[in-house]
Amino acid sequence: MDVDNQVVAEIEARLGAKFVRTGADTEGFIEDFWGRAWGRTLCVAQPGSTDEVAAVMAICHRHGIAVFPQGGNTSTCLGAVPDVGGRSVVLALGRMNRILSVDPVDGSLVAEAGCILADIQQAASDVDRLFPLSLGAEGSCQIGGNVSTNAGGTSVLRYGNTRDLVLGMEVVLPDGRIWNGLRTLRKNNTGYDLKHLFIGAEGTLGVITKVALKLFPSLGPMTTVLISFDDIADLTSFTEPLRRSFDTAIIAMELISGSEVRIVNTIFPDLNVPYDPETGWFLLVDIASDAPAGVSDLLQEVLGAAMEAEKILDVLVAANEAQRASIWRLRHSVTEAHKKYGMGMSHDIAIPIVEIPRFIQTAGSKVAAAFPEAEMALVGHVGDGNLHYNVMFEMSVWNAIPDQMKTRKAVYKVVYDIAASMNGTFSAEHGIGALHVAEMKTYKPPIELEIMRGIKSLLDPDNRMNPGRVLPL
Ligand SMILES: Cc1cc2nc3c(=O)[nH]c(=O)nc-3n(C[C@H](O)[C@H](O)[C@H](O)COP(=O)(O)OP(=O)(O)OC[C@H]3O[C@@H](n4cnc5c(N)ncnc54)[C@H](O)[C@@H]3O)c2cc1C
Repeated sequence: MDVDNQVVAEIEARLGAKFVRTGADTEGFIEDFWGRAWGRTLCVAQPGSTDEVAAVMAICHRHGIAVFPQGGNTSTCLGAVPDVGGRSVVLALGRMNRILSVDPVDGSLVAEAGCILADIQQAASDVDRLFPLSLGAEGSCQIGGNVSTNAGGTSVLRYGNTRDLVLGMEVVLPDGRIWNGLRTLRKNNTGYDLKHLFIGAEGTLGVITKVALKLFPSLGPMTTVLISFDDIADLTSFTEPLRRSFDTAIIAMELISGSEVRIVNTIFPDLNVPYDPETGWFLLVDIASDAPAGVSDLLQEVLGAAMEAEKILDVLVAANEAQRASIWRLRHSVTEAHKKYGMGMSHDIAIPIVEIPRFIQTAGSKVAAAFPEAEMALVGHVGDGNLHYNVMFEMSVWNAIPDQMKTRKAVYKVVYDIAASMNGTFSAEHGIGALHVAEMKTYKPPIELEIMRGIKSLLDPDNRMNPGRVLPL
């Protein structure tokens, strides 16, 4: 038996053939969510426990086989699909989906890495607590994937990124050894805090098998406001007083361009949000019920002043839960709408908040000059300086472009150079995956790359964990 067949046979012997997919059965695990890339693999292993993960990792270690850990496969940057080499194992965590404990007094929840994010939110809510991580893919992404990408989402403003929500974790190392750091302590200054190495490592250092998460008090009813305005230069004239007045009661602050709303409406005409389709910009704000008393009076005061100064055009306060849900459905439908609309180059950039209007103006004019056939569409977690700056090509326009890869790279360069010139970053919350490895070389200081390579070679000296992702050679 050759080595490849031997590897599959050993994994089958350990997990049971039922949980080892090969050939056509690997479909759905080797293609990325967006249909942009396919890979090949010896097999997809679906372990049901930490010991089984450790066994698969030890087998791959012994035979020098690469491993691609996979959660919900919703990565935006080709993070979770195997490469085309075919001498690799995809380790799909979806069977490890048990919630192991929920403790409202300790304010913690312990779960296996394959738990769907929405199930964790629900388990917290069942004991009248909140797990605040929230993003459009929450019905299919897994907590192990969220931790591995240090996902951001819509409530970073108040609760931080996933990194801020993790208390502890269990990890299987590339050679199959298990590190048990599954604690729920809030304080533990006993040397390097190793969990932070694996948060945001995108599966390049080990496989996260369990996580301990922070829970928060439930928030109760939310006031959802949709503000329409025309000039992006006016943005901070009302976001700053809103933040000053409501402080941490603001849970989400999402910017949506009119062009984005029109794309979503074209694809999903039943969304039913009352808005003027010709408006330039929308700001969606969620204010928690623990805000200072008299939310509506304070809103009136802050936004009334902005309206009088002609900085904003209109304010829609969701009248009920149904209207609130449809406003949020508009926001959360952006990704699906892009997939159906055409070819989009999404730039997940972050810049200092004060630079947002200048970034949008500069990028708008530079992209339009270089690519007159492109449409700009933008959503952003604007409260934390993170913009998803999308350069969209309608499909027939895109198909007529002779060298699409060259165009794609040229678009990236225009946008990322502007972000870099404003002391920003080319990846705020989505990570690097295989898609942005080249940018790591261009924009990351050499000393940072050197330290990262040192950590990588300590934990994964044979470069078998998610090879070709995150770190340039
Ligand atoms: C509609 C939509 C909306 C989105 N919105 C947001 C958003 O607002 N904010 C945001 O940050 N992201 C967003 N994303 C991106 C994506 O959902 C997140 O990156 C998510 O955290 C990935 O989780 P996943 O389980 O799908 O991971 P995958 O895509 O399966 O994997 C992502 C990376 O993590 C690694 N990995 C997965 N599980 C493990 C594990 N157990 N151990 C070690 N490594 C592992 C993989 O190898 C890969 O490198 C969105 C995606 C979609 C499709």
